[in-house]
Amino acid sequence: MAEKYVYNFKEGKKEMKELLGGKGANLAEMTKLSLPVPPGFTLTTESCKRFLSEGQTIWASLDNEIESHLKELEQITNKKFSDRENPLLLSVRSGAAHSMPGMMDTILNLGLNDRSVIGLAKTTANERFAYDSYRRFIQMFSDVVLEIPKVHFETIIEKTKKKKGVELDKELDGNDLKEIVKKYKEVYLRETKEEFPQEPIVQLRLAIKAVFASWNNPRAVFYREMQGISKLNGTAVTIQAMIFGNKGDSSGTGVVFTRNPLNGDKKLFGEFLLNAQGEDVVAGIRTPNEIAELKVLMPKGYQQLKEAAKTLENHYKDMQDIEFTIEDNTFYLLQTRNGKRTAQAAICIAVDLHKEGKITKEEALMRVKPQQLEQLLHPNFALKAIEQATHIAKGLAASPGAASGRICFTAEAVEAAYEKGIKTILVRQETSPEDISGMVKAEGILTARGGMTSHAAVVARGMGKCCVAGCSEVTINEEEKTLKYKGGILYEGDLLSLDGSTGMVYLDDIEKTKPALGGKFTELMGWVDEIKTMAVRANADTPEDAKQALEFKAEGIGLIRTEHMFFKEDRISSVRRVILAGTVQERAKALGELLPMQKDDFYQIYQVVEERPVTIRLLDPPLHEFIPVKAEEIRQLAETMSLSEEKLKDRITELNEVNPMLGHRGVRLGITYPEISRMQVRAIMEAALEFKIISKIEVQPEIMVPLISDVKELVYIKKEIEDEIKKVFIEKGQTLTYHIGTMIEVPRAALTADKIAKEADFFSFGTNDLTQMGFGFSRDDSGSFISEYIEKNILEKGPFDTIDQEGIGQLVKIAIEKGRQAKPNFKIGICGEHGGDPASIEFFQQLGLNYVSCSPFRVPIARLAAAQAAI
Ligand code: PEP
Ligand code: MG
Repeated sequence: MAEKYVYNFKEGKKEMKELLGGKGANLAEMTKLSLPVPPGFTLTTESCKRFLSEGQTIWASLDNEIESHLKELEQITNKKFSDRENPLLLSVRSGAAHSMPGMMDTILNLGLNDRSVIGLAKTTANERFAYDSYRRFIQMFSDVVLEIPKVHFETIIEKTKKKKGVELDKELDGNDLKEIVKKYKEVYLRETKEEFPQEPIVQLRLAIKAVFASWNNPRAVFYREMQGISKLNGTAVTIQAMIFGNKGDSSGTGVVFTRNPLNGDKKLFGEFLLNAQGEDVVAGIRTPNEIAELKVLMPKGYQQLKEAAKTLENHYKDMQDIEFTIEDNTFYLLQTRNGKRTAQAAICIAVDLHKEGKITKEEALMRVKPQQLEQLLHPNFALKAIEQATHIAKGLAASPGAASGRICFTAEAVEAAYEKGIKTILVRQETSPEDISGMVKAEGILTARGGMTSHAAVVARGMGKCCVAGCSEVTINEEEKTLKYKGGILYEGDLLSLDGSTGMVYLDDIEKTKPALGGKFTELMGWVDEIKTMAVRANADTPEDAKQALEFKAEGIGLIRTEHMFFKEDRISSVRRVILAGTVQERAKALGELLPMQKDDFYQIYQVVEERPVTIRLLDPPLHEFIPVKAEEIRQLAETMSLSEEKLKDRITELNEVNPMLGHRGVRLGITYPEISRMQVRAIMEAALEFKIISKIEVQPEIMVPLISDVKELVYIKKEIEDEIKKVFIEKGQTLTYHIGTMIEVPRAALTADKIAKEADFFSFGTNDLTQMGFGFSRDDSGSFISEYIEKNILEKGPFDTIDQEGIGQLVKIAIEKGRQAKPNFKIGICGEHGGDPASIEFFQQLGLNYVSCSPFRVPIARLAAAQAAI
């Protein structure tokens, strides 16, 4: 028997997404639930894969399957596909396993031709409707199958409306539309040199082929890459009997979410259009009505929608995004899927669904994507600043957050500005999938047309990007590159600010503040702490960072990079003199100047961190970062050091390294200049003892040695450190518990971790350097080629963002195993950038790390990711 490539809706279920695509699987599920779904069938993703791999042709057995399903559909609907009088018309829609908003294409009213349009007009006694359907079909078919620019068709409609002196499409009558159809077919002939295809089965074959082929169009490929979903088979194609929302004012079409996707409120949220077809709402061509108005205009339809929404939400146990159409007061469902939502809504809905008894705490936690939290941590406009700002227009609050930047009217302009480090706002009449690369790189998005479910709104929310949509108070001329508002005009490059939470548009850049988190966020994060087993610490170098980290509930500090303290203006000169000193005495003098400053740095951090563990890393600078380069700096330093400029320049030359990141840094510096390490541990301990006396709080300093590759380095430096600490204890007549550990960031250290563990109290993986040295990719320079590695499928992800489990991850694994062989309960953490990356956190949980440490703003993300990894 030939392989099965086509399933009717009764044969599928929601679990078959990989095969039937999200749309096909959910239509099948709704059919199973006896909800009002127009009948249809789905060509599988496997058939797309075969089509693309076999020279883009439809093979005989697939043709047969399609035909027999068509016959079945004719029977169910009691209509004939190529009938002149009562034609069966179809919608042809793509649908991959993951939803790809706006990426793939839809054709409605397929099956219409010059003959059946007359029949349709007659049987429905509605000429306007028949010709409106036909002109839509020609336009969609031309766009999807032949990529004839939409503008050719839109111009014809605009001209007809102008000639007639009307504003809305629905004010055109049957005769106008008949004329439009004629002109559309002329465009088709002009553009393709062929007549518009009249045979329905030919139309269908061409449409299926085009949808399959669109899987590989560049914008679909880009979207999949961006979302990290490159490994799918292809798109399914769903073919369904048409339901008409454009039959008059007792018909309509809309999109609703079962709860508010912006804030999570338990209330239907969405839009509809009377006398329109589905694409009008989603494409944002007409600005739709709010769903509440449907209650007044079509009470029966509204009631059915409400009931269907409840059934679907209870069944899927999640907020649903539903497409519906009402034909002559009869309600139909055309799609359901789990709705995209903002972080705020995701949290609210997850917490509410748990409280309603629909999902467990664990399921609730899994419903929030850790990266999404970043949105919540995004800044808002400062209240004071917003009071003084110049408000120029208001649109729809489509995706929350505050953004400022320079106006760009094209995605290309955004990308060019981004390369130069310039922040931008993408301003478009309405966005389309071609704009995605610009949307990713803009700070925010403003559109003049389109509703809450328009492309711009949906995509921006998915990305967590600030967006104001449907701002009809401004006039955008993309060709002239101008934005006109009541009272002025703006040009490309002018500054603009958007508030995606209120829909307000302002002139200029506006000061922003940190958001306040509370309520359901706190509740959810409480569950996180009950479930996670790995601790989350923060990398912080200043008391402010430490404070921020603790506000986000970091359980300690996992890394203080002390070299960052050395850059401060009041001490850089002393630091330079330490490095460039010609004698031990000179160095001792400069270190003497640094000691009180370092002590104060640590004291201030202890005041914030108190009894929580705090890992302080000894100096790890690539030396070149501290050496003066400007002539004036060299002159001044020479003067302070009582040296000639020539002599100082000679010393600078001596210190010059070809490969500073592999050079005289980390513990290597401590070995050649142990007095630097001694000064630092003295500052650490003196500050801790003084803090203990004053506050009665015992801090837990963990002194960390960077960049060791051999246990003997650790033994050497440990002796120096311990000797200095002993001195401090004697001088102060007091002691304090402390630990000395090491970073594992050189591959050789990972491979000899058993020996190193014997000398260390803890390990912390420096996965930034471990990745750098393991791959041999420079941390600072590899950005230029890594993106190409990803494009060419050599790497799946950037190894500095997500840990490479296969290689670098194995070094981590070996080091943990060896370390714990030597000391069974050995404490091990990670403080490289991967400590804040959810995918890496999952891996670290599997390896049994005790904690991850990341930048303060990623602490909530890491906590949630750690909880998810523990489930
Ligand atoms: C690391 O290498 O991962 C690390 C945390 O240290 P740094 O980034 O300071 O080199
Ligand atoms: Mg490092």
